[in-house]
Amino acid sequence: MSHGHKTTIRGRKLRPESLMMTYAYKPELSEGALKCPIFQTSTFVFKSAEEGKAFFEIAYGLREQGPKEELGLIYSRLNNPDLEILEDRLCLWDEAGGAAVFESGMAAISTLALEYLRPGDVVMHSEPVYGGSEYFFRHILPRYGIKAVGFRGDLSEAELEKAARAAGRVAMVFVETPCNPTNVLVDIKACVRVAKRLSTKGRRVIVAVDNTFLGPLWQHPLKLGADFVLYSATKFIGGHSDLIAGVCLGGAADMKRVRTLRTFLGTLASPWTGWLLLRSLETLKLRMTCMMKNAQKVADFLAEHPKVEKVYYLGHLEEGTPQRKVYEEQCLAPGSMISFDLKGGEKQAFKFLNALELFSLAVSLGGTESLAEHPATMTHSDIPPKDQRRMGISPKMVRLSIGVENPEDLCADLAQALSRA
Ligand SMILES: *Cc1c(COP(=O)(O)O)cnc(C)c1O
Repeated sequence: MSHGHKTTIRGRKLRPESLMMTYAYKPELSEGALKCPIFQTSTFVFKSAEEGKAFFEIAYGLREQGPKEELGLIYSRLNNPDLEILEDRLCLWDEAGGAAVFESGMAAISTLALEYLRPGDVVMHSEPVYGGSEYFFRHILPRYGIKAVGFRGDLSEAELEKAARAAGRVAMVFVETPCNPTNVLVDIKACVRVAKRLSTKGRRVIVAVDNTFLGPLWQHPLKLGADFVLYSATKFIGGHSDLIAGVCLGGAADMKRVRTLRTFLGTLASPWTGWLLLRSLETLKLRMTCMMKNAQKVADFLAEHPKVEKVYYLGHLEEGTPQRKVYEEQCLAPGSMISFDLKGGEKQAFKFLNALELFSLAVSLGGTESLAEHPATMTHSDIPPKDQRRMGISPKMVRLSIGVENPEDLCADLAQALSRA
């Protein structure tokens, strides 16, 4: 076994954060370079015509892959060393059998959906989901005869099953948890049980979880029985608000299917994006841990503030409630996303947002810098007000993504902006 693939020391299983600098990279293949170079090349040279033939046989599934045989490097829409090493490292966090990196989170979601959905199928999705996913489900999939049916995040298992059975031929349950921006949790294990009961011999109902908000540190849906985990790697995995990328993880056989469709849709990330993500992964745990601890302090500060009406934060879920029970079953930490309602309405919220000095006024999340935005008129503005209200989104709500700054500085900025709201 090569140095790059060692995951244990004398029987001790190494944690993902210990492996992010070296795993799956062989320096001897790159002139001994300590760091993986950027393989900025569109195509790869075969050693012989026979090798080229064998690589294509595997790539196009023309014959069974030998037990030791791997897909050779052919062309950078199929595979590339930066992406392959990145995929091997991403598998470690979620203990996945396979991974596929994409040029965006939306590319990961749409490629997975197109691989597993057929005309006449129904996708059941939690509500609200990311605006791009919602648009894809509502406006793009129907062109291919696929219907989308939403369900409220905190629906009980029995209610979800009833809704799914009434919806038609469900092929996929798509879950985003915690919900954005309300931090409502969807019970992943309950969704998996419902999908199992809806499955028939020869027709598996798959569960896909968009794990962007808590993963890959604080929530591991594959371990809870989900078939796929999806990420907008633009957020925490990239972590510096300087790239767009996506990831899909799942079982080895499933991921082979996803990667094959990725080849033909052409949604693979570029070597440069892959290299940036390799660099980001080295500090993933460090960043997410710091952001989570900072968020805890910020949420406590907001909860005590007289101008704040309500805080939506996973670390403040009341003991004994169904939501708290779900949290304890599936989350390892409360993450770093906080929403809160100010006393007043849009006017007060805007005054507050315009007064911030350390926080930046921007959408997106999961970067090193702290961001604030107004869901009702920004990220969720295409949802009709009546539906917004049903989802718990109101004009007095502000969403925060907490970064790695000094937490007291963050609270000081919030305090001065609140005093002007
Ligand atoms: C940002 C985001 C997406 C879309 O990802 P892109 O990288 O922007 O394509 C999907 N799901 C969630 C939860 C997101 O936050």
